[in-house]
Amino acid sequence: MKKILVTGGAGFVGSHLCERLLAEGNEVICLDNYFTGSKRNIVHLLGNPFFELIRHDITSPYYVEADEIYNLACPASPIHYQYNPIKTIKTSVMGAINMLGLAKRIKAKILQASTSEVYGDPELHPQPEHYWGHVNPIGRRACYDEGKRCAETLFMDYYYQNKVKIKIVRIFNSYGPKMHPNDGRVVSNFIVQALNNKEITVYGDGSQTRSFQYIDDLVEGLIRMMGTDDKVLGPINIGNSNEFTILQLAEKIIELTGSKSKLIFEPLPEDDPTQRQPDITKAKDILNWEPKVGLEEGLIKTIEYFSKLLINQSSRS
Ligand code: NAD
Ligand code: UDP
Repeated sequence: MKKILVTGGAGFVGSHLCERLLAEGNEVICLDNYFTGSKRNIVHLLGNPFFELIRHDITSPYYVEADEIYNLACPASPIHYQYNPIKTIKTSVMGAINMLGLAKRIKAKILQASTSEVYGDPELHPQPEHYWGHVNPIGRRACYDEGKRCAETLFMDYYYQNKVKIKIVRIFNSYGPKMHPNDGRVVSNFIVQALNNKEITVYGDGSQTRSFQYIDDLVEGLIRMMGTDDKVLGPINIGNSNEFTILQLAEKIIELTGSKSKLIFEPLPEDDPTQRQPDITKAKDILNWEPKVGLEEGLIKTIEYFSKLLINQSSRS
């Protein structure tokens, strides 16, 4: 039985990861400050004696014994990470220093949840890991993009200087049950709008693209990466390479929900990347991993989750 620390464990990705790690017979310590996460995401795990929940902010040091650390703590949706951009950078940078310091001290393996945002608005398509990216360092998305880039630098430097056992994965747009219904990300926004028969807010003309990965595929990729030989550091892209325009996504969600919603077009946010698609050759070769869940199948499961959530919310009000 391994003892595993998951920072950001009460968030969307973290809660699925905690569930899976427990199901595989590990002991899990879930650490979160509940900025964007919620106890609701992990409440069903609280009765498990091998699950421990700790309220803590990773911008302060934390000491615990563990074999592995998944460093996921960081708001991930543009509205949340731009709400307090200085805090977002502190979480990425000071949080990484604190968790790397812990990994160094206790000799644990540590995995960083990095992001496709390190590629910014990419000029190379699809994006391979050797691409250095095209990021605006002074724009509204910079607190997240540059914070995550600096965290990658710190991970590499703790490896070069202290031989800490590090792993870096660059996660591309992921979706699924337990996404925050108001976090402004496109999949949750469109599904909630469609289920309420409200207008679907397409930013720009909807021709920008994203490649959407279902949560179960992501969790599998994270666990496989952690399980690699110490020589495998990454970064490795984890994402689904099926690319869609935002308009195609809107139309698919209207079709699957049977919604009466109409599209409205709103201004494109600053520095919104025009295209994004992972090159997952490395993940296939090194992790023997590739996504299994197609967009339609994943959306159906996600729609089911949000339908129940909205019914519960309306019965409570
Ligand atoms: P999320 O917002 O649902 O989860 C983040 C969790 O971290 C939340 O529970 C939040 O309360 C917690 N947190 C934030 N700041 C903290 C702090 N200072 N101390 C302790 N806890 C803190 O987001 P998510 O989608 O689950 O993302 C998880 C990780 O994966 C993030 O690091 C994110 O950058 C990365 N990622 C996610 C995606 C995606 O599409 N979901 C894509 C790329 C990268
Ligand atoms: N988007 C949109 N309508 C929304 C929310 C998002 O058109 O209600 C667009 C957004 O401009 C971006 C894409 O969908 O082009 C993905 O946005 P999200 O915030 O989910 O992720 P990110 O931009 O970080 O990839």
